[in-house]
Amino acid sequence: MKKVKTKIGLKTWDIFYEDPKKIDMDVSEIISSDKNFGFKKKNLDIIKQKLKGKNLSMHTQTTMVFTYKEKTLQEMEINILKAEILACKYLGCKELIVHLKQNKLTAQEIKLLSGLLKYSKKNKVEFLYEVNENFNGKNVLYNLEKLPQLKVNLDLCHLGMAVMNKTLNMDLEEFLRKVRKRVIYIHASGYDGEKGHLGLNKSKLDWKNVLNKLDLNKIKKIIIELLKLDDLKETNKQIEEYLKSHEQVN
Ligand SMILES: [Zn+2]
Repeated sequence: MKKVKTKIGLKTWDIFYEDPKKIDMDVSEIISSDKNFGFKKKNLDIIKQKLKGKNLSMHTQTTMVFTYKEKTLQEMEINILKAEILACKYLGCKELIVHLKQNKLTAQEIKLLSGLLKYSKKNKVEFLYEVNENFNGKNVLYNLEKLPQLKVNLDLCHLGMAVMNKTLNMDLEEFLRKVRKRVIYIHASGYDGEKGHLGLNKSKLDWKNVLNKLDLNKIKKIIIELLKLDDLKETNKQIEEYLKSHEQVN
């Protein structure tokens, strides 16, 4: 029996938020727009102390990088990302999660991103490309082809949106087959055809089938990303059961 190494964690928008429905997990994804953050040594040291021993990752505060046409704003985004990479290094966050524009990247943007990937690697932070809401699968695959070192955070809710709202622009199985080698991180939540970031129990997308098509040995973290914590326990249970059953077949 092979042990599954994938860890389950929780995304938080407020590091110190307390809720009776919250489960204290060893794995946590924080966001740099968190009000407790602020790129200040004092704040970072408090976070470091409070989250000591946890396996951390960070979500960027930039939105879809390279959507802005203005050169100044593009440069601003690149520098925010660099600051976040350094904050990750300081806090010990292993991954930085970033969204890119919906369209294909231009040659100049690919060059800029390659530079950022090098910078990230130098600082021992894994720069991850998260698929957007209603993304186009062909554009994502194009960007990945141009950046062979770039790894993916596959968001199950955003994938559900792309499938149900028909923006994926290709067959789901084909997309999963082509993205499989790059997916090392999952955002777990459900889309019911109208609302997103619900519990996996409310997902209209067959998320287990999606995970079956990926390589679990490569997936380091499955991060639960819910707007409300009502379905947290159930979602956590379903993922635990999935990972357990996978252990037995292996
Ligand atoms: Zn996400």
